[in-house]
Amino acid sequence: MCVQQTWQLYRRLHESAIFPKDQLAVRREIANIWLKQAPVNSRTGRKGGKYAAKDKRVPPHVRFDGNSHFIEKTEKQARCASCGMKCRQRCIKCQVGVHDRCFAHFHSK
Ligand SMILES: [Zn+2]
Ligand SMILES: [Zn+2]
Repeated sequence: MCVQQTWQLYRRLHESAIFPKDQLAVRREIANIWLKQAPVNSRTGRKGGKYAAKDKRVPPHVRFDGNSHFIEKTEKQARCASCGMKCRQRCIKCQVGVHDRCFAHFHSK
């Protein structure tokens, strides 16, 4: 939002107010408007369903131990721990969803 727009917004908000304000007071109010709006504006658009760090669910010493990792089919859909897409397989040992095509990748560093 540029200063011009903020000024117009200020005018709209204060149309009913009759008493004049000097430039400094106006600038201070504009600063207040900015401060109130900025956090909201910066948050929208950035937030969203960002998938939680996929590797964090399985500790590395389990994930990369190369021992007894088997894939099994699941009834419910899960998130693949490697690519983050929905899948219907999981690693029995890691207890996380993983595609068969992602299985090797997920278990190798
Ligand atoms: Zn996958
Ligand atoms: Zn595993």
